[in-house]
Amino acid sequence: MQYHIQTDPIWEAFKSDCDCPLCAIYEKTESRLVEQYLNEAVMEPDYRVEVNKYGFCAKHLSKLFAGKNKLGLSLQLATRIATVRGNITPVKTHKQAVKQAEKLNKTMDTCVICRTADENMTRYAYTVAQMFACEPEFRQVFQKSNGFCMPHYTLLLAESNKAGKLTEIYLHELVYLQNKSLDRTVHDLDRFAQMFDYRNAGSAVRPDPDTIPDTIRKLKGRII
Ligand SMILES: [Zn+2]
Ligand SMILES: [Zn+2]
Repeated sequence: MQYHIQTDPIWEAFKSDCDCPLCAIYEKTESRLVEQYLNEAVMEPDYRVEVNKYGFCAKHLSKLFAGKNKLGLSLQLATRIATVRGNITPVKTHKQAVKQAEKLNKTMDTCVICRTADENMTRYAYTVAQMFACEPEFRQVFQKSNGFCMPHYTLLLAESNKAGKLTEIYLHELVYLQNKSLDRTVHDLDRFAQMFDYRNAGSAVRPDPDTIPDTIRKLKGRII
């Protein structure tokens, strides 16, 4: 079976007992890309064309700024600003101004790291479905995993046809895993809320501080 992306990170993430194996893969992919845009991509013309065109989102700019190559970042920002500057055209009426604002907002809402990471994640989701179909051992690991964050669950749904003849079985397992995972989240939230009940005031058991961050990650992916 020819996979479209390497399978080692998929095995590793699914065996790690984490809340979303695709988030674990995303974090590694993202860190690698941030490093790349602080190192070899700075002087590489092909990368520079992409950086000039798409720029970076706020999250990735702050990650780049936290990195070690301030000179490299300043060079990339300077050429990106030149592109942004080039998109500004003279406007005379309010109608033209609103149109220009819409156009600029669209060009500002792009990120070369997000684009590449998203492309990679689609390929990983594709490969998860293929591995489910082709590797019985992976099917077992998949069934024992803890479900996914909702953005990665929808990505897996979208790529589910890559399981070929096993698509229906794959979808059945996927839906089952996700419902089980969301039920667990609701159960954890219930327990968390119960800890605030006056009847538990003297209890030594404290509310689990991870409950709310875990729930937010379940709904939105790794934003915190
Ligand atoms: Zn996820
Ligand atoms: Zn980004």
